[in-house]
Amino acid sequence: MVNEIPVIWLQTSACTGCTISLLNSASPTIRNILIDQVIPGAHINLRFHVTIMAGAGEPAIEIMENTAKEKTGNYILVIEGAIPTTKDAVYGAIGERGGKPVEMKDRVEDLARSALAILAVGTCSSFGGIPSAAPNPTGCQSVKQFLDAKDITTPIVNIPGCPPHPDWFVGTVASIILNGLPKADDLDDNLRPLAFYGHLIHENCPRRAYFDEGKFAKKFGDEGCLYELGCKGAITYADCPLRLWNGGTNWCIGAGAPCSGCTQPEFPDLVAPFYEKLVDVELPTIGAYWLPRKEEK
Ligand code: SF4
Ligand code: SF4
Repeated sequence: MVNEIPVIWLQTSACTGCTISLLNSASPTIRNILIDQVIPGAHINLRFHVTIMAGAGEPAIEIMENTAKEKTGNYILVIEGAIPTTKDAVYGAIGERGGKPVEMKDRVEDLARSALAILAVGTCSSFGGIPSAAPNPTGCQSVKQFLDAKDITTPIVNIPGCPPHPDWFVGTVASIILNGLPKADDLDDNLRPLAFYGHLIHENCPRRAYFDEGKFAKKFGDEGCLYELGCKGAITYADCPLRLWNGGTNWCIGAGAPCSGCTQPEFPDLVAPFYEKLVDVELPTIGAYWLPRKEEK
């Protein structure tokens, strides 16, 4: 007997990059995830996902709405994107009702109330991300902010990243199927699974010895720590240096690019400009590294 786990995946204010990242999952492949048993005896029954599903239009919306009715309290709601909340303006809609577009925020509210759990995939969904960047004309909010304002208490797990690594999503889903919903100790203060976001990039960075020696790259391609070229690894929690990306091929700093802090609530406004050194940050590291304030430069 196979346990079917219904999943509804909504895309709100986002770029679809999180979906593209998941489609690149190396092990298991997306085929394994969607067709096979993701763990023995359990199959993910993806009922609604605009990018992946073959269906479209009213029949697809009907499946989504029926899932919420028939599987109340038993389906996982995945939300990719921030929630636009500005009043009296439709910045995004998912399907129609009575010939009128249903705003993203209304869909999220309906489906969130009756879900077993919500996975906020990507930094837009987890923390607001790029759609919520100043001046935020669409009033975008993170899923948690939105749910709190509506008094919706469905458990939520944030899986940030711009985009998130496919393993972070697949591993979280597999853990929920095997062990149930994460306990408070399994998550950090930002509701991220500690299994994937438990350490700073800076703790495991192969360029860390350069940082400690004070040897900093002055231009791209130089040897040395990328801190002065804008690396935000010192404030960013994720396991990229150990896990690597694209099936273990490489990662941002390995390719010579600074970490832009994409898994952090501060992304993007408070880690910008991306290619400038952090200021006003106390570095969790050894030795004194003087941080000139911008006006002292
Ligand atoms: S600042 Fe960036 S490049 Fe330098 S050691 Fe830390 S994480 Fe690595
Ligand atoms: S190294 Fe930094 S910017 Fe790159 S994916 Fe990891 S957290 Fe995001």
